[in-house]
Amino acid sequence: MLTLPLTDIWLKVLETIKPEFEDKMVSYNTWIETIIPVSIDYTKITLAVPYEYNRDFVRLRYLDLLKNALEFVTGLPLDIELTLNNEEVKHNLDSSFSNLNPNYLFENFVTGKSNEYAHAAALSIALGSGALYNPFFIYGGVGLGKTHLMHAIGNKVVRHDPKKRVMYVSSEQFTNDMINAIKNSTTQEFRDKYRTLDLLLIDDIQFIWDKEATQEEFFHTFNELYQNDKHIIITSDRPPKDLKSFMDRLVSRFEQGAVIDINPPDYETRVAILQKKANQLNITIPNEVYEFVASKIKSNIRELEGAIKKILLFHQLSRKEINIELASEALKDILDARKRKITPSLVIERVEKYFNLKENDLKSKSRSQNIAFPRQIAMYILKEYTPLSLKQIGTAFGGMDHTTVLHGIKKVKENMDGDASVQNLIDDLIKDIRE
Ligand code: ADP
Ligand code: MG
Repeated sequence: MLTLPLTDIWLKVLETIKPEFEDKMVSYNTWIETIIPVSIDYTKITLAVPYEYNRDFVRLRYLDLLKNALEFVTGLPLDIELTLNNEEVKHNLDSSFSNLNPNYLFENFVTGKSNEYAHAAALSIALGSGALYNPFFIYGGVGLGKTHLMHAIGNKVVRHDPKKRVMYVSSEQFTNDMINAIKNSTTQEFRDKYRTLDLLLIDDIQFIWDKEATQEEFFHTFNELYQNDKHIIITSDRPPKDLKSFMDRLVSRFEQGAVIDINPPDYETRVAILQKKANQLNITIPNEVYEFVASKIKSNIRELEGAIKKILLFHQLSRKEINIELASEALKDILDARKRKITPSLVIERVEKYFNLKENDLKSKSRSQNIAFPRQIAMYILKEYTPLSLKQIGTAFGGMDHTTVLHGIKKVKENMDGDASVQNLIDDLIKDIRE
């Protein structure tokens, strides 16, 4: 949950405790609403209060309430530090202009083959020697660290020089900002805000594919910054050339610096990420548990992170030692939910599409190779990724008996042994099906 920005965490905490104050709203307004969240890490949250007596009173009366709510929201037993709302705090809050998430740093970004180029480029930009990487376009699948890397650059730049104007926005925020500016006749302010930045971080640019006016405005923002040697970092789920229905001139701007992808982490990197996360949470986990998790969760770092937190929570609640048994219990929901989401109709539809077949081809009795092979692949996926029985799978294919299903699955397995491209094909399909 620490992936949520601090303000979101705090809003959830307030939501959680508010019912306790149902008939004591004055207390709520006096003691709780005046609290300002300042910073958070994996062990501690710092909260600022306006006066010394607020500090004493909150400490005395509300510390446990806040602690429980925080644990409920973040899944972590955080310590609470209460500080006074002084100048330094105010300054930190002002810099919230940049929207940077203080938890996304280079220090906690694990590198491996899958992300080393992106990491190296990001680091040189942050150190001020990345002129060649302008713009820097990072692309890759969900949960692979694009947003993290982007914030890491911003955080490092600001930490080095607090006067630098850095801003992180999602492409949707940019769009909303623009729409509001038009509505309120403040386009000049809008332009001043974006076009005077030293570093613009714009996340998930693919979402403006159907927003022509946003693309146009962004094009001008881009040019203005670029001409003044300011840095622009863009992320996307796909490379520029696949940003269909984007203005050509925008796509060619995206390609004029460095375009670098981030890939799913390999096994060793997954283990290293798990170790790092466990370290941050101050827990010791036996190696075989890391290996177990890394073998189950492969394509999304956010899920790896979630898995560690889940294991920690189970460990704390049950007071049992952390081993594979506890881990499988903790991850049961995650792994089951994943299996559940994949349904026969979804698999059949996606496989048909992938192989350019017509609807319901896979359910036909046709034995021609161009249908039989995709059908076997679909059966294999259903067997591996759902809890369905052979019989149930047969039913989904228009009433095939279970020995035919079994035969089909065996065929795929044999093919996979000799041919890595079959595995790749299946990985591709799974990705497609999950999206
Ligand atoms: P994306 O933007 O590519 O969808 P995020 O940057 O949001 O992915 O990353 C998802 C989660 O995984 C975040 O909590 C992030 O901190 C974590 N994460 C991603 N890559 C790494 C990495 N290389 N090392 C450590 N944590 C990572
Ligand atoms: Mg992201």
